[in-house]
Amino acid sequence: MKSFSRKASAIHESSTLAVSALANRLKAEGKDVINFGTGEPDFDTPENIKNAAIDAIHAGKTKYTPASGLPALKAAVCKRLEADIGVHYEPSEIVIASGAKHSIYIALCCLLDEGDEVIVPAPYWVTYTESVAMAGGTPVVIATTPEQHFKLTPEALEAAITPKTKLLILNNPSNPTGMCYDEGELRAICDVCVKHDLWIMSDEIYYKLVYDGRKFVSAAALSEEIKAHTIIVNGVSKSYAMTGWRIGYLAAPLWLAKACNKFQGQFTSGPSSISQRAALCALVSDKQFTEEMTVAFRRRRDFVTEGLKKIPGIKLHKPDGAFYVFPDVSAYYGKSDGDITIGNDNDLCMYLLNVAHVATVAGTGFGEPNCIRLSYATSDENLRTAIRSLQESFARLK
Ligand code: PMP
Repeated sequence: MKSFSRKASAIHESSTLAVSALANRLKAEGKDVINFGTGEPDFDTPENIKNAAIDAIHAGKTKYTPASGLPALKAAVCKRLEADIGVHYEPSEIVIASGAKHSIYIALCCLLDEGDEVIVPAPYWVTYTESVAMAGGTPVVIATTPEQHFKLTPEALEAAITPKTKLLILNNPSNPTGMCYDEGELRAICDVCVKHDLWIMSDEIYYKLVYDGRKFVSAAALSEEIKAHTIIVNGVSKSYAMTGWRIGYLAAPLWLAKACNKFQGQFTSGPSSISQRAALCALVSDKQFTEEMTVAFRRRRDFVTEGLKKIPGIKLHKPDGAFYVFPDVSAYYGKSDGDITIGNDNDLCMYLLNVAHVATVAGTGFGEPNCIRLSYATSDENLRTAIRSLQESFARLK
């Protein structure tokens, strides 16, 4: 009687959350650990957004909302999508959920039948393959190469399609690599999906965090036909430093949005009424906060990229967006510091945690064991200390 279901047993723990938990435990034990593992802005949620939540509590806005979210918030999402990515959606095509992670899962549950295949280009965000499997689908991982900046090519996509393929998950800008697709690359991939009548799940959660004057292009903005095959996933976690508020959303053709609404109505009901009011405030506020955060991230990206490039053997592509770097560290596999030998990415991350006191995440969880992921969403001072410490620790490996 006392056994887990097959479903529960098959789930792997999130490696990024596990690293954060370990780093926090070491900190609580008094160790001076710098956390390069966490996927969240170190900025505080802006005051006006916090106040909107406090006002909502005082005004008694503490009851259930419609399952697909507050009408005013859905309308604000539509305005943002129109203004930011040039795509028109009706509020009825929007579903607000308890985070983008939750939006992804709901959409997958509404689209996948047992055995349907979902193409996931590697390196991928750790949750994609797991949530596909949890929703009954089969993840089909396609490798990309560092030479192509880890971008999926239309040829590789075409080669992976079978009669069971239902959907492609694209993350643009990417966690963990920080790469962004330009319009031509994106169009070539989406055209293949339309040709084979596949869904494109376009996770655009980092869309505001792009650097060097780059213009973000959404898959849904490419054509009406591509939009009809696209589910946009986004949320307020990264753009407004609101990871803990748990508000994400999806935008999809009406019939799919309706199915997601029905699913959510039996699963979680609407997300927190208070967080929704805070998210509404975020979406209608001016751009200043996000722009300042982006300037800081760009500066930090440059600092971290330069610092890591000075470490012999590390190969690295300068990221275009998000707040991660994903260096190839495989030149260090097989090297030792005293009696510690580095066999793989996991050994290296443990070594860096214990010796450099820097928490990073092994690439294996992202489908690329030659790399490790470092998040530079931490203070400039932490970055200076951590990069020095990493340079010293790598130098000890012979
Ligand atoms: N997509 C990607 C690519 C992410 O990196 C994350 C957060 N790490 C999410 C979605 C989830 O965001 P949320 O906090 O809205 O669930």
